[in-house]
Amino acid sequence: MMLKSGFDFGFDPGACADCGGRCCRGDSGYIWVNQREIQSIIRFLGANPIDFMEACIRRVDNRLSIGERQVGTGFQCVFLEMTPKARCRIYPVRPMQCRTFPFWDRYRNRPPKDECSGIREPA
Ligand code: SF4
Repeated sequence: MMLKSGFDFGFDPGACADCGGRCCRGDSGYIWVNQREIQSIIRFLGANPIDFMEACIRRVDNRLSIGERQVGTGFQCVFLEMTPKARCRIYPVRPMQCRTFPFWDRYRNRPPKDECSGIREPA
């Protein structure tokens, strides 16, 4: 189980395998990425940089976010694959925002139990 100083909950990454990618879909939102992270994803996918930027990245003011697609009444990250099983297509090079979930400041006193089946009481 992972713990982080200042957070009164733990996180079991083992829960990710079967949760259905709940933290990668839902309401519309932003997954911030920097240039270094974008280059890593492009290398990992072996993608054409121009095509990749057009298809997968959106500019929000002066920042860059991974794109999302509308599915039904909700949204999901463009890198979330749902079949045959929910998984992140870029998991080994996913951005820092994804790596640090659920230890985000906004959850410090309110663990995201509805979004994450890996939330645990600290031992
Ligand atoms: S990059 Fe991967 S881990 Fe991050 S939101 Fe998209 S599918 Fe989820």
